[in-house]
Amino acid sequence: MSILNDVPKQLFIGGKWLDAEGGATMPVDDPATGEILCQVADAGPEDARLAEEAAVAAQEEWARTAPRARSEILRRAYDIILSRTDELALLMTSEMGKPLAEARGEVAYAAEFFRWFSEEAVRVDGGYGVLPDGRNRMLLTRRPVGPCLLITPWNFPLAMGTRKIGPAIAAGCTMVFKPAPQTPLTSLALAGILREAGLPDGVLNVVTTSRADKVIEPLLRGGRIRKLSFTGSTKVGRILLAQCADTVVRASMELGGNAPFIVFDDADLDAAVDGAMIAKMRNMGEACTAANRFFVHSSVADEFAARLAERMGALVVGPGTQDGVDVGPLIDDAGRAKVEELVADAVGRGARVLVGGATPDGPGRFYPPTVLAGVDQGSQLMDTEIFGPVAAILTFDDEDEVIRVANDTPWGLVGYVFTAGLDRSLRVSERLEVGMVGLNTGLVSNPAAPFGGIKQSGLGREGGRVGIDEFLEYQYLAMPVK
Ligand code: NAP
Repeated sequence: MSILNDVPKQLFIGGKWLDAEGGATMPVDDPATGEILCQVADAGPEDARLAEEAAVAAQEEWARTAPRARSEILRRAYDIILSRTDELALLMTSEMGKPLAEARGEVAYAAEFFRWFSEEAVRVDGGYGVLPDGRNRMLLTRRPVGPCLLITPWNFPLAMGTRKIGPAIAAGCTMVFKPAPQTPLTSLALAGILREAGLPDGVLNVVTTSRADKVIEPLLRGGRIRKLSFTGSTKVGRILLAQCADTVVRASMELGGNAPFIVFDDADLDAAVDGAMIAKMRNMGEACTAANRFFVHSSVADEFAARLAERMGALVVGPGTQDGVDVGPLIDDAGRAKVEELVADAVGRGARVLVGGATPDGPGRFYPPTVLAGVDQGSQLMDTEIFGPVAAILTFDDEDEVIRVANDTPWGLVGYVFTAGLDRSLRVSERLEVGMVGLNTGLVSNPAAPFGGIKQSGLGREGGRVGIDEFLEYQYLAMPVK
């Protein structure tokens, strides 16, 4: 596969491709077969220090570049990404497993962050005002926060990178970027594209590593990184926030979810089942936005469950590179073992398996689309991100009760509500403790909208008009006028 041969496999530091210290490498495998695809550089703390140094050295000049120049780099990168859709999709499918059609969709979604932030780069404004005393004036400007550390997960290898790199470039920040070790190739390919688009040396530095804790902590405690933008689990987010505290590093956190998917008795069931298929099965269920808990009104629960089971059972499971495959493998053995345990626990507490539920034999980390009905509230999957193709259905009768149960979780990323009533749509959406609501839709992600959660799902927003704010600081000038 030529894209696999062509993609760089070294660290990208100061505009150069470099080996890791001591020539250390780590394997990247194909989750559909378990076979090793290639080796990539495995950075240690000294490599990370060099990456930080490059970012710090480039910061001042980069902050002074014309916003239009930064905008045009992003726009060129957007064009290049789209022109290489098939290669990038194949790369993502190879290292992450999602079906090619989904990978192509991710390429378009990921590229859109660059187009969006190319447009935002030239719209950063300030202010001028007379203060209440009538004598003092206030001049307000905005400046880049400074060198940033970006850390991403494996589930959306391209989009999680562009969602951070886009606003950082637009704002004039330099970066050290650490992608997940399962999916480094897509991030290295992205670095190559940005270089081709004219990004100056040192603005983006990519450090691939299997030793995240050893490599990242010194950067966060070192005092030169001014901002952390992290996407990943709440567990790791907490560790990193604690590390940020010592040197008061500004932090954005896009963390885990536990999305409720609520179907009321007046819902359009066709729309609800379509929405469930997207909210549950996008990315094989390996999405922070994945519907984790289905609450269906008891009067429509049997019909909804039967229709969902029929649709889930018809999905084709197999290697993402094969034509006609809808559901690829899960990312690794640990990810699949967790799904198996959660299903076993739910079944042990009385859940009925309507479809799926049994791990297939053979190579690869496949798990079948599964629908569980009659799930007990006390089941582990009620307060654990399933991160797999398993829909767990509970029933309810009362609006207040379902809202109480839906909110009874430390997470608050997204919720889905299916109902025909306008009053109920707004009433329920307003009462859900989440950063985003899908109202009669199973898809909320859009580069033009602020993505993010409340409670332990995160801090800050990515995308939308506010996405760039995470990478900007205010400076206020006070001026008395006689
Ligand atoms: P993860 O285990 O938290 O890892 C995320 C990233 O953090 C990886 O690059 C990981 O590298 C790194 N990391 C782990 N421990 C670290 C440490 N001590 N210091 C520095 N970096 C460290 O999450 P994941 O399993 O990759 O991704 C799944 C999670 O991401 C889910 O909880 C999902 O909900 C969440 N997610 C959230 C959003 C959102 O926008 N809210 C989007 C996508 C995913 P290593 O693997 O090498 O440890």
